[in-house]
Amino acid sequence: MAGLASARELRREGHDVTVLEQSGDVGGQWRYDPMTDGADPLGAAAAPVKVHGSMYASLRLISARETMGFTDFQFAPKDGRDVRRFPGHREVYLYLKDFCDAFGLMELVRLNTGVVRVALAPGPIPTRQWMVRSVDLGKSDGAEEVEEEFDAVVVANGHYSQPRLPSIVGMEVWRGRQVHSHSYRVPEPFRDEVVVVVGCGASGKDIAMEVRRVAKEVHLVAKSMEEVTQELAKVLSKYSASLHLQLHVERLCEDGRVVFGDGSSILADTIIYCTGFNYSFPFLDTEGAVTVDDNCVGPLFEHVFPPSLAPSLSFVGIPVKVFAPWFFEAQAKWVAQFMDEFVSKYCDFRSVEKWRYELLVSSLVNMFDNLETFRDEYQDSDSIRKGVEEWHLSAQRAQAAAAGPATTKEQSLGLLEQG
Ligand SMILES: Cc1cc2nc3c(=O)[nH]c(=O)nc-3n(C[C@H](O)[C@H](O)[C@H](O)COP(=O)(O)OP(=O)(O)OC[C@H]3O[C@@H](n4cnc5c(N)ncnc54)[C@H](O)[C@@H]3O)c2cc1C
Repeated sequence: MAGLASARELRREGHDVTVLEQSGDVGGQWRYDPMTDGADPLGAAAAPVKVHGSMYASLRLISARETMGFTDFQFAPKDGRDVRRFPGHREVYLYLKDFCDAFGLMELVRLNTGVVRVALAPGPIPTRQWMVRSVDLGKSDGAEEVEEEFDAVVVANGHYSQPRLPSIVGMEVWRGRQVHSHSYRVPEPFRDEVVVVVGCGASGKDIAMEVRRVAKEVHLVAKSMEEVTQELAKVLSKYSASLHLQLHVERLCEDGRVVFGDGSSILADTIIYCTGFNYSFPFLDTEGAVTVDDNCVGPLFEHVFPPSLAPSLSFVGIPVKVFAPWFFEAQAKWVAQFMDEFVSKYCDFRSVEKWRYELLVSSLVNMFDNLETFRDEYQDSDSIRKGVEEWHLSAQRAQAAAAGPATTKEQSLGLLEQG
């Protein structure tokens, strides 16, 4: 998402763009990968992990499709596809493929190309180039590394791959299976097991509820009672025979016992850590100008430009809890134009309409209140209903225009503006 957003904006500004993508297709996290870091399911041994994908098979969005589009290319439902407001992950992948087709982005993308090093070339700072070393991963016989020079580099490698793990006494000696959600795909491997799910975020709750259906019992570990919303409590009481709440893991014992904060313990087969991800830029050598400290990337002005290396080095996609890809598009516009104002301050974007903001917030509130059903059952306010109706109409008009004569199509996609 962030890479494609950047490529389009940079080309719109007349730059000569190359996207280096390690996998065999675009889509990033949204390209579901059934493979896992099997030999290292905790992802603790290697950085970077070998498998980029962290999405599980059943994943449905937690953000409504109406809040998840590029400004001029809406994430509109399409006949024959997953038309739900909160569709499955594949729908976003297909949407990104459509985005590439609509704006001819694939010609900029070099697939199967892993970036192994990005560093400044020697020379005075203002004229310094970036040396980018990459390897053709499509070649099975160990391809040679290639080094190329670029005027500027946009880093958009994502940050939902490298597992973040808690530090729990006994982790190294515990005899059961330990997995990070990065390596979770389907519940079947946990059939009839006693499973501990550590972490009460969106993935932890999703995975606990899914594994519960096949496991003997699931213990969901929250950091504190503050994470236990009324609705989570309701779900826990509904499935009290198989889903249990625990607070804090105190220690893990060699014999397979998991001891919780209140002193109680259980004998478990598997622990699934749903404890988030770390930022990681194993290929980037800025000689200390940009570092990751306590999982914060910096120093970055507005989370985009490292002051000492701007504008030739930038980061798109770092912040979380933003509208994606809308926010990435805004960052990319700023990178491509640099001098313009960001979002309302730096970009010529209109600010987010009130109804869209209301929809985002009400979806989150609904998720807390109706954990099991929030994706399918919601009550829209009048302003959301009106906004969504207008949004559907304008999406339909754009689709009709796209199917019409060439000039109309190009206009609707904004291609003419690029010249
Ligand atoms: C389980 C899960 C659920 C999520 N649910 C939602 C949701 O409901 N709504 C939402 O808005 N967001 C959700 N997200 C977040 C979502 O992943 C991001 O919004 C978005 O995909 C980030 O896009 P990105 O381009 O920054 O990163 P990515 O999608 O990770 O793309 C990064 C790309 O860089 C490539 N790359 C990395 N390193 C290299 C290298 N060295 N050389 C070459 N290429 C490289 C990767 O192969 C990948 O294609 C979820 C994430 C996860 C893991």
